[in-house]
Amino acid sequence: MKLSDSVVTRLHQHPPTQRMFLVPSPSSSSSSSCTCLLKHHHNAVWFRGPTHGRVPYTGRDTCRIWCAKRTGKQRYPSEKKKLRTKHKELLSDSKEKNKFEGTWRLFKLAVPLDQDPGKDSLHVSDALLQQIAKVLKFPVASLLPPQAFTVVRKSFDARKKLKEPKFVHTVDMDVQNLISLEPRCWDFISRLEPKVGLVERVHDERDFSDLRSIIRDCKENKEAVLTGGNGRSNFSKELYKNQATRKPKIAVVGSGPSGLFASLVLAELGADVTLIERGQPVEKRGRDIGALVVRRILELESNFCFGEGGAGTWSDGKLVTRIGRNSGSVLAVSLLCSIYKVDVCILFLTWTKLQESFHCKVMKTLVQFGAPEQILMDGKPHLGTDRLVPLLRNFRQHLQDLGVTIKFGTRVDDLVIEDGHVLGVMVSESADKLRLTSKKMEYDAVILAVGHSARDIYEVLHAHNVELIPKDFAMQLPYGSAVASSLLACIVYNLGLIHVGLRIEHPQELINSIQYAELASEVCHGRGKIPVADYKVANYIDKEDFNEVVLTSTGPSEICINGMSFSQRASKWANAALVVTVTAKDFEALNYDGPLAGVKFQREFEQRAAMMGGGNFIVPVQTVKDFLENKLSVTSVPPSSYRLGVKAANLHQLFPIHITEALKHSLVTFDKELPGFICNEALLHGVETRTSSPIQIPRNIDSYESTSVKGLYPVGEGAGYAGGIISAAVDGMHAGFAVAKQFSLFHGDVESVLGKAPNVGVVKY
Ligand SMILES: Cc1cc2nc3c(=O)[nH]c(=O)nc-3n(C[C@H](O)[C@H](O)[C@H](O)COP(=O)(O)OP(=O)(O)OC[C@H]3O[C@@H](n4cnc5c(N)ncnc54)[C@H](O)[C@@H]3O)c2cc1C
Repeated sequence: MKLSDSVVTRLHQHPPTQRMFLVPSPSSSSSSSCTCLLKHHHNAVWFRGPTHGRVPYTGRDTCRIWCAKRTGKQRYPSEKKKLRTKHKELLSDSKEKNKFEGTWRLFKLAVPLDQDPGKDSLHVSDALLQQIAKVLKFPVASLLPPQAFTVVRKSFDARKKLKEPKFVHTVDMDVQNLISLEPRCWDFISRLEPKVGLVERVHDERDFSDLRSIIRDCKENKEAVLTGGNGRSNFSKELYKNQATRKPKIAVVGSGPSGLFASLVLAELGADVTLIERGQPVEKRGRDIGALVVRRILELESNFCFGEGGAGTWSDGKLVTRIGRNSGSVLAVSLLCSIYKVDVCILFLTWTKLQESFHCKVMKTLVQFGAPEQILMDGKPHLGTDRLVPLLRNFRQHLQDLGVTIKFGTRVDDLVIEDGHVLGVMVSESADKLRLTSKKMEYDAVILAVGHSARDIYEVLHAHNVELIPKDFAMQLPYGSAVASSLLACIVYNLGLIHVGLRIEHPQELINSIQYAELASEVCHGRGKIPVADYKVANYIDKEDFNEVVLTSTGPSEICINGMSFSQRASKWANAALVVTVTAKDFEALNYDGPLAGVKFQREFEQRAAMMGGGNFIVPVQTVKDFLENKLSVTSVPPSSYRLGVKAANLHQLFPIHITEALKHSLVTFDKELPGFICNEALLHGVETRTSSPIQIPRNIDSYESTSVKGLYPVGEGAGYAGGIISAAVDGMHAGFAVAKQFSLFHGDVESVLGKAPNVGVVKY
């Protein structure tokens, strides 16, 4: 077959991927010598020479032309008719009809690194369409309209057991949009069956909504009910009665993630909220932290732990919890299932789904306040301190717009309790160190969201006989020593027991090359195609990845460190917590007992570290090799990201021998998993003590009210119900609804709005 010159030229101008239409009209004069369509296959049209022309057809002349796909109005009438009939047949079956509504979620769509545009791209690439087509069993990937798909999660998987590194996507498919753009998908959708963990229906879109929209949706629903419309309502007329008389006055103490989310829910639902924060707003807090890092001036009330945004603000902003499909928590849940003979699969899936839905609500709310949308898609979302600061400013503005009174630099010194009921709080200006100006403020309820560094508040609670339980007593497990120790350790970790240990730091390039081998060059200080490498080696010691070691002490005679990083993670350091779980036996060995034994235990090691450093916030350090050999690092120690100075010390003198041995053992284990982990540049810093709260404040499972004092609502990490930014926010969100319910601001079932609260234990980021 011969193509006209103009056709050939256009063929060259438009590569096949553009699917250019190239066929001369059959009715044109040239058609007699030209074409007869034989096949329409894989978006290509095959032509061969005339069947009735003068020139006899020889198979040699067959050529393949990529052509435009005929969609929508351009489709041949006969094809349109055929499709319409098929659709009608399918829709007559109501079960099938459901398939063509809403959203399907497609999981584990893996695209090899060389075919993916990279970590920063979230568009639906051709290679991703190929994977989607495979799942749908749709033969021509290029016919699938990318607009019908949204990437909801993307992560990089470079595990060594894989043949090649891949980006793994989770994609939402809007079925109606898909069918309207490409009706030939009908057949394939009708044959699509849900497969757990691979193809699932998104049943309740609200699960993936942000908090404000959920509350507003509920309110609109309520109004529809009041005006005689249809819809399920979670609100009652009492809401309006209540507002007309007096709004309940609620004090939220602490503006960390749990306090902020509790305030947001309550303010949206109509409460009169006062948010009391001992620290400073982020702008001033930033300057105070600057003064600490540069001039060694520790502001006791405005530092890495205290101030707007709470402890996580000057942090990595890692927005994950340990609830992953293969995480320790899931293993823990599996074990509980086997003990109670519950179907592991069902429990596991319900658990992970709930977590996903909670995360989504919190994350979408964070996006509304200025977090980048990327956090919704990243497999390991992280914000970085630089992004948390403007986000918090927007959060504050929104709360103020809702009428929340925010009192910064105001410390709650005491609770006003009468007849087992909280009537308010005693507050003073944070600058008043002696608390001489303490004054009473009355509230209908007090939400205590003070974080785990508010040790003075623990003492206040103890003095008022509020029930406090040291963590490991709080988490009595229903089984004993029969459980294999590693699994027990895993459960224990994930239920949030107390940990102490060290912080280990490596050059980031070393971690990149351990994790990615020759691919490490693609990282380009966080600006490359693949993400900066991190690691998590969970045994009974656990790690995460940060870029700078920072001082999280809240007193001048203690050293306590943690990690932080900026959004690009462009730092040359990678550091992580290396901690072991401790129990009441450890406290007893040091003669500490009572509910606050864990706090005393933490303080003991913080003071020892300060003495070993020699004061001035200098941190004692030891190389990993010297630590393993129990010798003082006498030659110069490798550089550290910690800016206030380090001093060589023998960290064996810090902890009791069994803790030191556990740390040593873990380092050796990690080196087997990550060869090169033990190296000359690896530096251990002392001491990491505040990875979790040492106590739990028991509360009623539904109302969130303290079991010992009415009107007191302990939430977040300090109360022992969270262990990270997201889990604290989730806890605050649930507490907000529970309190609103108590005061008739909300009359529905909290679970119907949010899902069941994660009360199985405490999760850790
Ligand atoms: C340096 C660092 C890095 C971290 N990195 C991460 C991370 O990357 N990802 C992650 O998920 N988690 C991280 N965390 C942990 C995370 O910050 C906490 O789990 C989380 O902030 C707990 O939230 P919360 O609301 O329960 O308490 P907090 O955030 O601790 O907030 C409590 C607030 O209460 C205030 N307060 C305390 N006492 C009083 C009082 N008497 N009167 C008035 N106000 C009071 C405090 O000033 C504080 O602002 C990090 C923590 C630190 C310290």
